[in-house]
Amino acid sequence: MFKKILIANRGEIAMRIIRCCQEMGIDTVLAVSEEDRDTLPAQFATEVVCVGPARAKDSYLNQNALITCALGTGCEAIHPGYGFLSENADFAEKVEKSGLTFIGPSSEMIRLAGDKESARSLMKKSGVPVVPGSDGILKDPEEAREIAEKIGYPVLIKASAGGGGRGMRIAQNEEEIENAFQEAQAEALAAFGNGDLYLEKLILKPHHIEVQILGDHDGHIIQLGERDCSMQRRNQKLIEEAPAVVLSPKTRLDIQRAALKAAKAVRYESAGTVEFVLDPSGKFYFIEMNTRIQVEHTVTEMVTGIDLMREQIRIAAGLPISFKQSEVHVNGHAIECRINAENPANNFAPCPGKVSFAHLPAGMNVRVESAIYSGSRVSPYYDSMIGKVIVKGGGRLDAIRKMRVALEEMTIDGVTTNTDFLYLIMHERDYVRGDFDTSYLKDHTDKILKWDSESKKRRRA
Ligand code: ADP
Repeated sequence: MFKKILIANRGEIAMRIIRCCQEMGIDTVLAVSEEDRDTLPAQFATEVVCVGPARAKDSYLNQNALITCALGTGCEAIHPGYGFLSENADFAEKVEKSGLTFIGPSSEMIRLAGDKESARSLMKKSGVPVVPGSDGILKDPEEAREIAEKIGYPVLIKASAGGGGRGMRIAQNEEEIENAFQEAQAEALAAFGNGDLYLEKLILKPHHIEVQILGDHDGHIIQLGERDCSMQRRNQKLIEEAPAVVLSPKTRLDIQRAALKAAKAVRYESAGTVEFVLDPSGKFYFIEMNTRIQVEHTVTEMVTGIDLMREQIRIAAGLPISFKQSEVHVNGHAIECRINAENPANNFAPCPGKVSFAHLPAGMNVRVESAIYSGSRVSPYYDSMIGKVIVKGGGRLDAIRKMRVALEEMTIDGVTTNTDFLYLIMHERDYVRGDFDTSYLKDHTDKILKWDSESKKRRRA
């Protein structure tokens, strides 16, 4: 096992990695930006090294500084967390070449999965269902129009290098193809330096269902059940749960088998996720593979009792997965709410600042992953997610009730958060009934914001 690893991340996920390493007897070196010297993980890591100025480009994305720092402090591996460099194949390759271990799959695998079009082609060849659409990269808007004509509108034009919901545009009809193509390409070029595009049929009212995978160097591949991540705002997940109650027992088995097939097709090694869209008739299609530990890995941990972070680190160290497929059981229902420092009433604008007071919920089967405390600062330089509340109940309604209590208890003063917005969703009829898909937030946000402002007015009066 590693003796010392470098953490190339911040916030709640840095805390998650530090805690896990402490339990495993591994020392940690936290690479921080100048902005993050006083954060919570910087208090708990074994060592802290500053790798650059506040802007992520100069610190958390500064590949050479991170590797130099890992080598200089005697680390054997780098944990990238999620976001930042976690799915950057060039970085993983540099880490490998420097003699360090990248805690994740090989750079080759990241490159394959990161090119969404080639992953899609490979899945198709391997017998995993993919969304009807183009074969290969689109030459021009004319080719997109020809394919769309065949499969029917609406269609989605997507960037092959895409991520975080960027580089994606819908075309409702022939006239919209040209603009969708140009806009997706411009956004992809600006964000990823790669303007390659492909086309998929837009599945209407889908669920986003993803399956957690672990694969080790001995060729064992295990699935740990699915998560429903349909509660998204602008393609960004907000609430995730496990299991996905929308699935029939048969579809659940089929989707888990398809995910295993996908992971086996690439001989996956590490913790990863196979993502699908599920249409209202119960048909599902592969959309992409994520080669990192995800924000929402916690809901799977809650229902399986398996520590995914620990397994990911063990696998990177060359150890086998510590359990068999037959030992994976899903018990109860878990829900995660992402707490963002943002103002829902002001179009969800980020709200950085000083947390003057914080009280985080606790209790049986209530888990909070966060790096905030009374007096901490929410930086304007990074993502506005400041924590996650995860609960587990015997069933979905129990979990919802527990989440209501947890969110009500949570007190964060000084910065505006989306806590009240999440609390209201936990009372909204369609969500409570399980009647939601990826269009839920688009259709329900106005109603929930109205409730929020009315209840605030009442409280003031
Ligand atoms: P990214 O890598 O940018 O997150 P994804 O391919 O994972 O992009 O898609 C993000 C979200 O967009 C999905 O969770 C899903 O809600 C939606 N989406 C993607 N492809 C389709 C599709 N073909 N039809 C309907 N919705 C889709």
